[in-house]
Amino acid sequence: MTSELHTLFTGQRFAVFGLGHNGLSAVCTLATYGAFVQTWDDTETARFALSHSLSPQQKQHVFLAPFTTLEGFTALILSPGIPHHLPQPHPIAQRAQQAGIPILSDAELLYRAVRAHGSQARFVGITGTNGKSTTTTLLAHILQQAGFPTAAGGNLGPAAISLPLLPDHGIYILEMSSYMLERLESLHFNIACLLNLTPDHLDRHGDMAGYTYAKMQIFNHQTSQDLAVVGIDDPLCHRIAQSFFYKNIPCKTISTVNRKSTYFGTYSKDQGTLWHNQIAIAHTGSTLPGIHNTQNALAAIAMARFIGVSDYVIAQALLSFPGLPHRQKHVATYHGITFIDDSKATNADATSRALECYDRIIWIVGGLAKENGITSLVPYFHRITHAFLIGKDAAILAKTLVKYDVPHTLATTLENAVPLAYHTAQCTSTPIVLLSPACASFDQFTNFEARGIRFQELVHNICQTA
Ligand code: ADP
Repeated sequence: MTSELHTLFTGQRFAVFGLGHNGLSAVCTLATYGAFVQTWDDTETARFALSHSLSPQQKQHVFLAPFTTLEGFTALILSPGIPHHLPQPHPIAQRAQQAGIPILSDAELLYRAVRAHGSQARFVGITGTNGKSTTTTLLAHILQQAGFPTAAGGNLGPAAISLPLLPDHGIYILEMSSYMLERLESLHFNIACLLNLTPDHLDRHGDMAGYTYAKMQIFNHQTSQDLAVVGIDDPLCHRIAQSFFYKNIPCKTISTVNRKSTYFGTYSKDQGTLWHNQIAIAHTGSTLPGIHNTQNALAAIAMARFIGVSDYVIAQALLSFPGLPHRQKHVATYHGITFIDDSKATNADATSRALECYDRIIWIVGGLAKENGITSLVPYFHRITHAFLIGKDAAILAKTLVKYDVPHTLATTLENAVPLAYHTAQCTSTPIVLLSPACASFDQFTNFEARGIRFQELVHNICQTA
């Protein structure tokens, strides 16, 4: 590695608009790399946070002021939540487009910094509608067990730009949202993975074609030396995998239904079995429940093998994977009742993955309901011994439960629901209490993490006092 850190971006001028987690990381790191940064956020608290985040050294490179012009800037870094296209481009994005200034994601900046530093570290990009965070974290775990210097982040955090600069044999594993993928120029993923595609974020991408187009950017710049990994369990991704036949990019397919895929997975008796060309090479443990996690594990295996990790290390690492917080996470088992925190399930599709895994369930559900509520979950209702409803839209969700004769109680808050759920689980000999809300959390919590943490606290209270 060559250049000094504080000169990596000397002479470059960046405009950073939006000082959320990503923007703040971008300002601090760009200043550390010697760039000039002008930044602004319309909210005073965000501006206040910035002044407390910068070191005296960094402050010399940062100018906090609203933008009057973008002329002369190398690029504009927009907070991922601010649209530059649909439904309406933000005025600052429009100004950048008129001035011909590129709008970049912080992952692009990381790539430029790594290369400017003289490192040939490899980049893995992981995208898809669901399973990105799990696959990213799982692959990072496998590579760490294999002894590779790794840095994982991006959409799940930490922000890509804040990751450390790795040596030549290092590997970056980036979770890439569609918003990040739209804002790339030169980032070349040595391994690019597309897990699945179902309708999501269509307000930002116009339609399914726009969303798919954004996701496909992950394969830009790939060559015959690289690897594409594509899940083929949905029709759209299946077609995308077929298109690799005409490209000079090696493509490995993964599936939990199609035995002809390169990597194939089955799931039964609480365990996933992962096959490569008809040979079983590994199993998933209790931290990767469900067929959906079998898909995630297959993708991680395909990528780890390409990097050169042995099947033995992969198999061991799958079993030692601790799992991700708030995604079907085991909290405690008390008097034969197991409490599961699936607070990340903010829509019915995510909740269906959890309901699929258990036969008899006390279900804690509710919050801010999504458009179709829980109607798509009707096929799982026979598994519910009793449901406890929380949050703003509890009464709306209750209507669906009434219609299908599912026993339920309007508990309103998690504080009410957890002790009631435990008591009912005991009375009905139901082994699982599952928080899988199928709803957003913002009516009662700052985010899904806060909801999951509160659930865990309430469960621990029960275990200590009951
Ligand atoms: P993302 O980062 O894409 O949001 P996560 O790995 O955080 O995905 O998982 C979030 C939720 O999505 C999980 O709790 C589960 O309900 C669902 N999920 C995870 N992996 C998959 C998959 N491969 N296919 C479909 N759903 C999945």
